Amino acid sequence: MILSSYKAGFRVKGLSVAKIRANARNVRELLMPTGECTDLEAFVENLENFGITYDVVDDSFLPKGTEASCIPEKRLIYISESTYAGICRNDERARFTIFHELGHLLLAHSRTFNREISDEFPIFENSEWQADQFAAEILMPLEIILSKGLRTAVDLQKEFGVSYQAAACRLKKLRAKREIKNA
Ligand SMILES: [Zn+2]
Repeated sequence: MILSSYKAGFRVKGLSVAKIRANARNVRELLMPTGECTDLEAFVENLENFGITYDVVDDSFLPKGTEASCIPEKRLIYISESTYAGICRNDERARFTIFHELGHLLLAHSRTFNREISDEFPIFENSEWQADQFAAEILMPLEIILSKGLRTAVDLQKEFGVSYQAAACRLKKLRAKREIKNA
């Protein structure tokens, strides 16, 4: 998971924020019918009921610094042991990581579509940007931010159980697009 730079992503079919938001809203209704995900471990276990499996692997199985990884074609998520420990204690970083991987999986980020080798492509075609946007939309829905009048990163942290960094990044982007008013 990379929040500040998207250089590590590969090129996928472009998706707008609006499309990712609509997709996240549908998935949220399906996977989080109560509107909450307070028990992350139970949430991850329940994914198997939707045909999404996960495998907890030794940290060394994944490339260095990788918290989780997925194979969208197999609907399989690899979770490092240390990230899984984070899931079990409802860690905010582990929460974003899991929803980021779900983004790759549900937005069908298959590398087999990636035939073209190119360094330069628009951000909305970047797999990492799309997965981060998906995680932000599903974990911190705009309609809840607006309806509850959440204004600060700490407000978002309390409401959604996300990290300060993820909350501040969400607010900054929403303000830049004037989807929420400047406080
Ligand atoms: Zn990713």
